Amino acid sequence: MIPQDLLDILVCPACKKPLVQKENGESLKCGECKRVYPVRDNIPILLIDEATTDPT
Ligand SMILES: [Zn+2]
Repeated sequence: MIPQDLLDILVCPACKKPLVQKENGESLKCGECKRVYPVRDNIPILLIDEATTDPT
């Protein structure tokens, strides 16, 4: 899981909006553009090329 204080400073690289951690702690989702960024070894991969899209 990503610590909340770290989450607070992370933003989506596409639209600079806050990210929310998914329940499994293995990805971060942008509420604005619906991109989902992977988290590997507790390190968020905030690269647009690595993101998937979750429209739900
Ligand atoms: Zn975004």
